[in-house]
Amino acid sequence: MSLPSRFAFSNWPPALSETELEALTLYATTYALSHGLLYLPPIQPQPTIPNSAIHAPLSLFPSPFPGRLFLLARRLQSMYNILYARIAMDVQFLDSVMGSIEGVGKVDEFVGQLWTGWRSLRDEGLVQPLQLGLFRSDYLLHAGLNDEPLSLKQVEFNTISSSFGTLSERTAALHRYLFAATSYFNAYPDMKPDDFPPNNTTAGLVEGLATAHAAYNVENAKILFVVQAGERNVFDQRLLEYELLEKHSIHVIRQTFDQLEASASVDSVTRALFISDTEVSTVYFRAGYTPADYPSATQYATRFLLERSRAIKCPSIALQLAGGKKVQQVLTQPGVLERFLNDIPAAQVEELRSSWMGMWGLDEESGTQKARDLAERLVLKPQREGGGNNVYKEAIPPFLDTLPPLERQAWIAMELIAPPEGTGNYLVRAGSEGAQSAVKVDVVSELGIFGWALFGGQDGGVKEKEVGWLVRTKGKDSNEGGVATGFSVLDSILLV
Ligand code: ADP
Ligand code: MG
Ligand code: MG
Repeated sequence: MSLPSRFAFSNWPPALSETELEALTLYATTYALSHGLLYLPPIQPQPTIPNSAIHAPLSLFPSPFPGRLFLLARRLQSMYNILYARIAMDVQFLDSVMGSIEGVGKVDEFVGQLWTGWRSLRDEGLVQPLQLGLFRSDYLLHAGLNDEPLSLKQVEFNTISSSFGTLSERTAALHRYLFAATSYFNAYPDMKPDDFPPNNTTAGLVEGLATAHAAYNVENAKILFVVQAGERNVFDQRLLEYELLEKHSIHVIRQTFDQLEASASVDSVTRALFISDTEVSTVYFRAGYTPADYPSATQYATRFLLERSRAIKCPSIALQLAGGKKVQQVLTQPGVLERFLNDIPAAQVEELRSSWMGMWGLDEESGTQKARDLAERLVLKPQREGGGNNVYKEAIPPFLDTLPPLERQAWIAMELIAPPEGTGNYLVRAGSEGAQSAVKVDVVSELGIFGWALFGGQDGGVKEKEVGWLVRTKGKDSNEGGVATGFSVLDSILLV
C-alpha cells in the first residue's frame, strides 16, 4: 500500500495523554448534545413523548481519506443517480431480475410480496409517473495487492431510507469544531481547516424532497414521512423536517404503517392521497425496507394503498426493487451497464465500473461451487437492507450446506474489499451512566455519498444532484457496519 502524503493511515490517530483524551471527549460529547447529534436512549418501549436523548456514537478524530478518491466518489454520484433512475423506469428489466415469475421474487418472500403488489397496481394503471430517490452510494477504500495505489470500491447502493444525512453533517461540524477548539493538541502541525471538507447534506436532501413537492404542485399539501414505531434515530429524520418547514414552508406528517391504516385514504377519482383531510404531495419512506416492518398483510395493504395514490413516492416500489443487491450484481454482467448509460462517454462509464468488486449469482453455473472455493475472500448477500444479513468468509461453506438450491437465486457472492490496515480512532458511545470513556481501536471507515433524483416525467429526463456525504467507522474485527445496529460510529473525513 502506498502511503498518502502527510498523514499516514498507519500512524492515525495520534497518541494522546489521558488528560488530553478526557478533555477531547468532554468537548465532543457536549458539542454533540448541544447540536442535535443525538439518538433516543435504548428504552423499550419508547415513551410516546420523549424527555431525554443521548449523543450518537462518534469518533473523536476524522478519518484520513485520499482527496482524489473523495472527488471521484462525488463525481460518480450523478452517473449513479441517473443509472438507478433508469433502472427503476425499466419495468421489463426489473421483472426479469426481481420479479416473481422469473426473478428473485420467485424464491424471496419479501421481494415477491413487493413485486406482486406492484404488478397488480401496474395492471390497474398507476397515475403518478414521477418518482423520487434519495440515494446513498457506499464505498470502502481498497488497498489491493503488491503496493497498488488505494482505490475506491462500492459496497452497495441504497434506494430506500438512506439514513444519517443530517447527523453526518453534524459529525463533520463536530470534528471541525474539535480542531478549532483544541488544534487536536498540535499532533499534526500542518493540519489545516481546508483538510475538513464541507458537508451540507441536510439542505441537499431537503432540496430533493422540496423539488418533488413543487412538481406535485398542490397548495397546502404536505409531505408524509412513513416511520417505524420505536425508532431511535428520530433526530436524523426530524432535522429534515425542520429544514423543510423553515426553508421551504413545507409541513410534514409523521406516521407509522399502523397509524396510516386508520388515517390514510385515496380519492377514488383523482387518486389523491389524504391523511384525514390533508393532501399528501410526497411519501418519504423511513420504514418499509425490511420484512420486520410488515408483520401482517395489513402493512403490505397500506404500502400498496400509498403506491396506488397520486402522491410522489420516495421511493416507489420499482425504485426500492432497483436497489436490490441482485440488481447490483446483474449490472456487472457484460453490456448491462452500457445499455443503461448509452448516452454517457465510455471513459466515464468505465470509471464507474472500476468502482465495483467482482460479483456473481449463486444460481449461476458453478456459482455456488466458486463461492465455496473462494469463501475466504467473499461475502454472500441476500436481498435485505439495514445490516446484519450477510455471510462472511469461513461461515460461507456451512451456510451453503444448508441453503436450499432454489434459494440460491436470492443470494449474490461479492469479493471482499480490503481496506488499508493499521488505521485507528478513538470511539465514544453513550452508556447508561453517561459517556463511556473513549476506546482506541483499529478501524475501517465506510464513505457514503448522498444524491437525489426526480424522474419519470414525459420528457424522460432525470433531474438529479449529488448532495453530501457520510462516514461510518467500525472496529476492524466487526464484519458489518450499521450505526443503528450498534456496530459502528459516525465519523467524518480528513482529506489527505
Ligand atoms: P446493508 O444493505 O445491510 O447495509 P451492505 O451491503 O452495506 O448491506 O453490507 C453491510 C456491511 O458489510 C457494510 O457496511 C460493510 O461493512 C460490509 N461489507 C459489505 N460488502 C462488503 C465487501 N464487499 N467487502 C467488505 N465489506 C463488505
Ligand atoms: Mg450498507
Ligand atoms: Mg443497504
